[in-house]
Amino acid sequence: MVWEERWHPLRREWVILSSHRNDRPWHGETLGEARRELPAYDPSCYLCPGNPRVSGRRNEQYAGVFVFDNDHPCVSPSAPAPAQPSSPLYQVRAASGLSRVVCFTPRHDVTLAELSRNEITSLLRVLQEQYRELSARPEARSVLMFENKGEVVGVSNPHPHCQIYATNFLFKTFEVESAASAAHLADTGRPLFQDVIAAEESDGRRLLVSSDQSVSFVPFFARYPYETYVAPRETHPNLAGLTAGEVEDLAEVLRETLVRLENLWRMPFPYVMVFHQMPPGNGAEGYHFHLQIQPPLRKPGLRKYLAGPELGGGNFLNDTSPEAKAAELQAVSSAHYKHEGAGQATHG
Ligand SMILES: [Zn+2]
Repeated sequence: MVWEERWHPLRREWVILSSHRNDRPWHGETLGEARRELPAYDPSCYLCPGNPRVSGRRNEQYAGVFVFDNDHPCVSPSAPAPAQPSSPLYQVRAASGLSRVVCFTPRHDVTLAELSRNEITSLLRVLQEQYRELSARPEARSVLMFENKGEVVGVSNPHPHCQIYATNFLFKTFEVESAASAAHLADTGRPLFQDVIAAEESDGRRLLVSSDQSVSFVPFFARYPYETYVAPRETHPNLAGLTAGEVEDLAEVLRETLVRLENLWRMPFPYVMVFHQMPPGNGAEGYHFHLQIQPPLRKPGLRKYLAGPELGGGNFLNDTSPEAKAAELQAVSSAHYKHEGAGQATHG
């Protein structure tokens, strides 16, 4: 049982941990997981190769990773010029920027966790290129890359894909984390995330996958049940700075981490996965690129709601123990449950 408050050094805020509450009686909504069989190709999917999209454009007959401009962009060069509000207090500007969609694979029926190390490496290389291109645009202040996965986080199309928003402002999370990283670097001379990795390795209880150049773990200060960080060991402000070897190594650590999450409940594990990165230059000093995976479920079918403490108060209440959740992920197989018996030979 963990009942205490832990300091989140990247966000500089307290997290309340109260693991004795996770077994409290529950009379609210439970979610049915979609366990239906999917086809490898779905003629009605707007992400499958060769299919038409809502814009009328047709996807290429792609074989690997496929990138296109989002047909429903939230930020775009064609966003309208807004009308000026009546109060000088209220500021407004055009939602300029660029929104893109990245399909991981032509296969409609797999998840990122089921792709091979080589396929995930190719994906990360494409994202490196996207980062270089988009961060060089004059209007871009930051490039947000994320995968929303599962109906519980609002994704209706199971075709494995992620999104990119190149925006004219820095998202709040990276503003907060970069300020914490710069302050830690000024105080200690060390990148903050390097000290987090060192603390996780010296404790060891929350480590999931560890290799020469990358590591994954449930952080000491996890805000969500099964929250997981995946990071290269070297400090780079963004994905674009990783060497080819680092990308390949990160791909494998990410793959095994995702396999463990899927093996937990033997289902496509829902999450929001975000690439935490800063453009080079002002604010990037000491910032360490990493991925954060935030799962919405406490248990199969049971959602962690963001309510009074989180949405109202702005701090998180986690009803689980990070050590216990990490132990569950350490206990499952490192081979994907769908490939049981096939061995590692199926992974390229
Ligand atoms: Zn599809």
